[in-house]
Amino acid sequence: MRTIERALVTGISGQDGALLAAYLLARGVHVTGTRRPGAAPPAWRLDELGIAAHERLAWAPLDPLDADACSALVRTCAPDAVFHLAGQSRVAESFRAPRASIEANGISTVNLLEAVRTQAPHAHLVLAASAEIFGVPAHAPQDEATPLAAMTPYGCSKLLAHAAVASWRASFGLAASSAILFNHESELRDPAFVTRKLSRAAARIALGRDEDIALGNLDARRDFGYARDHVAAMAAMAMRADAGDFVLATGKAASIREFATAAFAAAGMDLDWTGAGAHEHGVERASGRVRVRVDAALLRPVDAPLLVGDAAKARRELGFAPTLDLAGLARHMVEADLARERRAA
Ligand code: NDP
Repeated sequence: MRTIERALVTGISGQDGALLAAYLLARGVHVTGTRRPGAAPPAWRLDELGIAAHERLAWAPLDPLDADACSALVRTCAPDAVFHLAGQSRVAESFRAPRASIEANGISTVNLLEAVRTQAPHAHLVLAASAEIFGVPAHAPQDEATPLAAMTPYGCSKLLAHAAVASWRASFGLAASSAILFNHESELRDPAFVTRKLSRAAARIALGRDEDIALGNLDARRDFGYARDHVAAMAAMAMRADAGDFVLATGKAASIREFATAAFAAAGMDLDWTGAGAHEHGVERASGRVRVRVDAALLRPVDAPLLVGDAAKARRELGFAPTLDLAGLARHMVEADLARERRAA
């Protein structure tokens, strides 16, 4: 087991970066978090976690596409662990800007691997890869041995990053590990993502501020984990002397409809589902009002196939253990959104 004294975290303003920074700071680690050059980073997550002004937290501007800047930062920071979490994290956006997504996720990883290889060869680099690298897998659940066949541009970008990690490990002996992340959510999830969209809508509707919410494919099924569990496992990966790949997943798939049902129940509304396809509705049992409807414009060109992970290796070697089931996760997110909405009022 290695000790981490100094960590470099790219993408610290995002859900995972903020949660990981909080996790590391609570364990005495000095954390340098990167922000995009120029703009002030969105700091609401760090504010909510109460770590924005933490004495062991430093900010550094970094464009991960600038290889020289990556090397200079790694040299200055001299980290024991580098967590590469920054990236274009939305599958839908990757259809609109495929090249930018592949650069942001793939080329940035090559730059950071090179920076670690040349400037901090004893550091352990952990990449936030994605289950999208499996594409349309022939079997479920997927594990570290499942063949890789990315389908979406986002999946391609993460496949490049994941393959680069394996290559730098094999070619240069670098301690580089890839976290094959299945969906993971929290109260800090981007409000544009479907789970947070739902928790926020359920809170606002419960408080009488909105009437309903429009969603895309209600049948899409995902392996919804809790982000705090996933970032703790990434920290555990970096503390190992041996590098490797780890699937981080709950092993259970749930549909968007099931998440919606759980979120509205957490806000005190039981939903009944009527109709089908673009005409399906989630109707509040007590009032008879439509609370969830389908908007055909929100359906994706290619929706993700059933991705559900087998995290047996992570359970065995990292002590990974999901702490919230779907209802608990939805409740946690809705309670946070109810509190935010009440504060805003
Ligand atoms: P977020 O979208 O919440 O955060 C992404 C972070 O990356 C932000 O700090 C963002 O900065 C930064 N970023 C985005 N684009 C760029 C860019 N072009 N150059 C530099 N920085 C950039 O994502 P999550 O925290 O949820 O995810 C963390 C990582 O894990 C991502 O790489 C994501 O792809 C991956 N992942 C996440 C999953 C999930 O379920 N959450 C599932 C599978 C993989 P800014 O705040 O300035 O926009």
